[in-house]
Amino acid sequence: MKEYIYQQTCERGHTIKEFLTEADAFSLRTLKQLSGRYGEPCKTCGRRISSLSTPTVEVNGRTLNQWLYNLDLAYSEQDEEFVLCDREFLPLLLEGVDKPDALPEKRAKLLEALCILAYDNTPSAMRKNSPFETTGLSIAPEEVDDDLRTTVLRELRKRIALLESLRLYMSCIYVQAVIFPMIGLDW
Ligand SMILES: [Zn+2]
Repeated sequence: MKEYIYQQTCERGHTIKEFLTEADAFSLRTLKQLSGRYGEPCKTCGRRISSLSTPTVEVNGRTLNQWLYNLDLAYSEQDEEFVLCDREFLPLLLEGVDKPDALPEKRAKLLEALCILAYDNTPSAMRKNSPFETTGLSIAPEEVDDDLRTTVLRELRKRIALLESLRLYMSCIYVQAVIFPMIGLDW
């Protein structure tokens, strides 16, 4: 059984650990409440709480099927697409994206995770037309998996109409600027 642990530390190093139920760790409301403790006074010494970490519920078919239909469930308080953009989750992401009755916000989040997965496997030379790419950031060809990028881009192309209808829910502009032209979309 996975343990879900919330942990906070104040400026003086007083640390508090709390064990959460899976339901609490999966609740957006609870995650927001816990994150909101950042900067609050420590109960022991009154100094600020200067770091904290909230648990992440395991991404699997069971939890994803709940998450897809419920806006109150979250893998993290924000930037969930960066939790979801793991190559191991690729089959789950595609399965979730293709559920027509799932919430559009959630399907968009999965599409965004797919875009990030492709982006993370795109070398600098292929990103150079994007205005968001700085010269200091260099992704060498050997750091990326070309097969994975090709696969993800092919799956995105199959879902181009869906992507267009849901893009208003997507926020990673710098990712879109690289990936959308590769699949034939303006950004
Ligand atoms: Zn303290």
